[in-house]
Amino acid sequence: MSLSQEVIILSDPKLLEKVDKLRDLSISQLVPLPQLVVVGDQSSGKSSLLESLTGIPFPRDQSLCTRYATQITSSRDSNERVDIRITPGPHASEEHKKHVEGFYEKVNSGSQFREQFLDILKKANERMGLRADVSTGDGTVFSEDVLKIEIHGPREDYLTIIDVPGIFRTTTQGTTKNDMDIVMDLVKTYIKDSRTIILAVLPSNVDIATQEILELAKYYDKNGERTLGVLTKPDLVLEPSAQAAVCDLIQGKKRPLNLGYFLVRNRGANSGPEKQSELDQIFRKDPWANLPRDRVGIIALKEQLTSLLVEITKREFPKLMRDIRNKIRECKRDLNDLGPSRHDEREQRIFLSQIAGTFHDRTRAALTADYNADPAFDQDELRLITHVVNITDIFSADFRESAHSRHFEKLGLDDPSAKADVVVDCDSKAESIVNDLRELLEKAKVDDVTPEELVELDDIIAPDKIPMPKPCDNFSAWINAVYLRSRGLDLGTFNANFLTTAFAEQSRKWGDMTKIYMSRVIITIHRFIAAALRSVCSEEQVRSQLWTSIQEGLVKGYKTAMDQARILVEVEQRKQPYTLNKQFAEARSKALGYRVTELLYPKARKDTSQYGETQYMVNLDDIAKATEGKHNVEKLQEDIHDILQAYYGLATYRFIDNVFQLAVDYCLLHGPSSPLKVFTQDWVIKLEAQQLEGIAGETKSAKRCRSKLKKKIEDLTNALTILET
Ligand code: GDP
Ligand code: MG
Repeated sequence: MSLSQEVIILSDPKLLEKVDKLRDLSISQLVPLPQLVVVGDQSSGKSSLLESLTGIPFPRDQSLCTRYATQITSSRDSNERVDIRITPGPHASEEHKKHVEGFYEKVNSGSQFREQFLDILKKANERMGLRADVSTGDGTVFSEDVLKIEIHGPREDYLTIIDVPGIFRTTTQGTTKNDMDIVMDLVKTYIKDSRTIILAVLPSNVDIATQEILELAKYYDKNGERTLGVLTKPDLVLEPSAQAAVCDLIQGKKRPLNLGYFLVRNRGANSGPEKQSELDQIFRKDPWANLPRDRVGIIALKEQLTSLLVEITKREFPKLMRDIRNKIRECKRDLNDLGPSRHDEREQRIFLSQIAGTFHDRTRAALTADYNADPAFDQDELRLITHVVNITDIFSADFRESAHSRHFEKLGLDDPSAKADVVVDCDSKAESIVNDLRELLEKAKVDDVTPEELVELDDIIAPDKIPMPKPCDNFSAWINAVYLRSRGLDLGTFNANFLTTAFAEQSRKWGDMTKIYMSRVIITIHRFIAAALRSVCSEEQVRSQLWTSIQEGLVKGYKTAMDQARILVEVEQRKQPYTLNKQFAEARSKALGYRVTELLYPKARKDTSQYGETQYMVNLDDIAKATEGKHNVEKLQEDIHDILQAYYGLATYRFIDNVFQLAVDYCLLHGPSSPLKVFTQDWVIKLEAQQLEGIAGETKSAKRCRSKLKKKIEDLTNALTILET
């Protein structure tokens, strides 16, 4: 620190060179500086000692006594410069913080600084809001703010020196208990640090037993590895017994300290401009002349300090290495988080292609319900095929329950032999499953489309709520009315067009119900793709660009599926009802059977078989007459009903199957035009360079961040090499 030529502190040249090199690597904040702190009672001579050691004129004037910590950091630099700032204390108000942080002074050289130091202190006092006069006036006496002075110069050492206020035990005029605590806390903060050398300053003319600073230092420096006792004011000890007590301390006969005591003489209140060497003449006289030479005078103290500082710096090196290794790890992790570098087209294509590959894997797993493939599948939205199957089950149940405009007659329910109980039981089980599925659907909020989704899928999905009337019961009245309005010269037969019209009317809701189903599936797929992208691409910027780029392809896929579903509805409704399915004939015969049974039922005789079962017996004559009473029209209407019912039942199953197979499974899930196949590696390969840059190019800030991290890792690695050699 000192510019005085007598001794340069921290003069181990090898160590200095090492620290120099480390500091050049822009990791200066990591390299710990040893620090020197003077502690002791008020007026024990702390500031004077620092002045003797460094040549910096710390104020000794009573009114300017040390009232906050002054931290002077010096470091080696080819340019001379001194910066002075204030760091607000830990309890400062926002307003005070702003105020003191605005303080900045600059001096061009160390020697100028030494001249202007007192003025600078006065300005800092004012800025911190300290009382001009300790005993009266506005403002506080002590401050937790720290005055920080950074001295750079070609001949400076790496060292921090701290002057702290003196400890006091009784409140005097103007000071409070709070002030005592502030000072105590300040002192403790500094002496706690293992890098700190504690200079415990004790005036020789005061009984050492009254000085609690030694206790305090021992508390934080248990082994006494960094505490030096410094006795001041030897010139003021005149009594022989007091002089003997001081000698005992120095010679280690009393209250020994691991690193021992030094006796130094500073400038007194009435001193003139004597040189240090002149002041030190006192040690040639009795009783001090008998003391060991390496224990008296500033030069001896400096020598001891030098070796201590070197030792401490060296001791800090392993910790520094650990810190550097941690930092390297941190930087590497950050670099990793940034993903691979995407500087040129090739890197960008590789980067995006990798994402597409992972997306493909995830989609494949989602389509086969292979949810153990990746922990990402804990996320509900990614369980694609399960959602689609559930939605389809609900669609199928809803469709069979209420897609028809009018209920058909319940033929044969009056049949006493029908095993009604079993049927009801099966139905209720299926119904409860469907209800569970409905609950799931509700939770997944498939019908609550977000505003963003609405923008993306606006003209594709069904509008918010399509009213879906329940089937009505007036089937015969309706068929009667339609028949009477459109009959021709029918003689026991009816026009095939009539059946087409009737079927179209009976299936009027199919279009809307299908659209709702398709919308649900499309939203589910849309959400899946968004979630899958989130899970494979963590970078927000890339993801949103990618999302925008594939939007057109997705919408095209959804549209194709919707169109397909629409065609299927149209095919069912426009064409003449026809089927090759054998079950159609079976269903018709069954209906006929029921009708005859119904007619005969009133004429049947109840009987009991030899096994005890109830049997119904009819006359053959009755069978022949059974249909006699029916009017031609009535008979025709019955036929129409039965044909329509048989056909409708078959058409429903066929339709549900077709919608799932052709519109959902083929168009949306597995077919070549599926929206799940928009974002593929193939797509990435075909991207124009400019589009690629738009999606996968790094932002300026990411580029900057990457190169900064790389430089930092390089610096840190070099620092490690320096430390290891
Ligand atoms: P601090 O409060 O501990 O910082 O003490 P100061 O350094 O301000 O010193 C208090 C007073 O003691 C000042 O007037 C100093 O000049 C004086 N002083 C400090 N050291 C010595 C010394 O070795 N001899 C004499 N005679 N006076 C000293
Ligand atoms: Mg002082």
